[in-house]
Amino acid sequence: MVGTTGKIKVGIVGYGTIGKRVADAVDMQPDMELIGITARSYNFRIEVANKKGWPIYATEDADLEHLQKNGIRVKGDIHTLIRNADIIVDGTPGNVGVEMKKKYYEPAKIKAIFQGGEAAKMAQCSFNADANFEDACGKDYVRVVSCNTTGMGRLLKAVADKWKIKKVHATLVRRAVDPVDVKKGPVNAIVPSLKVPSHHGPDVNTIIPDIEVITLAVIVPTTLMHVHCLEIELDGKPPTTEEVVQQLDRTHRIFMLRGETGVTSTAEIMELVKDLHHQRGDVVDNCIWQKGLSVKGQNLFLFQAIHQESIVVPENIDCIRAMCTDMSKEESMKLTDRILGIKIKER
Ligand code: NAD
Repeated sequence: MVGTTGKIKVGIVGYGTIGKRVADAVDMQPDMELIGITARSYNFRIEVANKKGWPIYATEDADLEHLQKNGIRVKGDIHTLIRNADIIVDGTPGNVGVEMKKKYYEPAKIKAIFQGGEAAKMAQCSFNADANFEDACGKDYVRVVSCNTTGMGRLLKAVADKWKIKKVHATLVRRAVDPVDVKKGPVNAIVPSLKVPSHHGPDVNTIIPDIEVITLAVIVPTTLMHVHCLEIELDGKPPTTEEVVQQLDRTHRIFMLRGETGVTSTAEIMELVKDLHHQRGDVVDNCIWQKGLSVKGQNLFLFQAIHQESIVVPENIDCIRAMCTDMSKEESMKLTDRILGIKIKER
C-alpha cells in the first residue's frame, strides 16, 4: 500500500522523545514521505519541527491560540493527518496509544504502529526487526517493543541463531528518566523492581517466544542509558569467547566496544557518539563491552548498554515497511541502516 508519490505516507501522532526521532528517520528514507506531525501546544520541539517545514496538525485538545500566537501555522486537525496517511506512527505516552487506536485509528481504518509503553495485547503482534519481521507483514496494528526489550531481543536472536539457549538470567540497571525530563526521579536512590521476574522477560517472549528469560530490574539515578548484565545458559557444546564476539560483531545493530578505546562506561559511550557527530548524540546499536564478554562452562556472560531514546528508531522504520510493503527483512534492515548511517554488516 503506497501513495501516488510512490512513497509510503507516514504521519506521526505524539511528537516527543520517540516521535521526533522517528519523524527525522522517516524524513530521510527514500521510500517514505513524512506527511506531518501532531502538536498539542507550543514548545521547543514544535518550534524546531516548524523550522524544518514539516506540516503540523492539531490534536483535538490542542491550544490553537498558543500555537498560532507563536507563529505555528497549523495545517489541519488530527483527522486530516490520519486521512492523508498510509500509516501512523503513534509516539504518545504509554497506555495513551490504546485510546488513540479506539478513538481514531480503528474508525479511520488506518494502519498504526505503537510503542513499548503499550500492553502487548492491544496490538496484533509485537515487533523487533531481526527477531520477527515477518510477523508484522500485512498487519494493521503492531507494537514496537520497548528499548530494553529491543536490546535483549536483538542480542538473544543473534546468540540463538548460532547456539541453543537453555535459559537467560538478566539484571537490568535502568536509567531513572530521559535527560530532558526535569520532573521525575529518583535523584538519590536505587529502586528495585520487587516484581520477579520484572515485566521485561515476559515482554521478550512476545518477539522470541521459545526462550526462558528471567529478568530482575533496578532503577538508578542516571539519565544516559540502561545497562543489562546477562548470563545466558547454553545447551550442547559451548562456543569460545572469540566465536561469540565474531557472531555479535557481524550482527545488525550491535556495536562491540573494544577494550583499547578506553570506553568503560555509559558516559564515555555518550561522549564517543557525540565525537562521531551522531545526531542528538544518539546510538541506535546495542553497545557490548568486548572485555566483559566471556564464556565460562555452559554460560555466556556479558554487559550491554542501551540508549533508551533512540534504539527503537530503526525498528519503527522496518516495521513501517513490514506492514506496508513486500520488502524482505534483510532488504529493509540494510536500507534503514544505510540511510541512518548505521554500520552495515554482511552475515
Ligand atoms: P514523551 O512524553 O516524550 O512524548 C509523548 C508525546 O505525545 C508528547 O509530545 C505529548 O505531547 C504527546 N501526547 C500526549 N498525549 C497525547 C494525546 N492524547 N494525543 C496526541 N499526542 C499526545 O514520550 P516518549 O518517551 O516519546 O514515549 C512514547 C512511547 O514510547 C511510550 O510508549 C514509551 O513507553 C515508549 N518508549 C519510550 C522510550 C524512552 O526512553 N523515552 C524508549 C522506548 C520506548
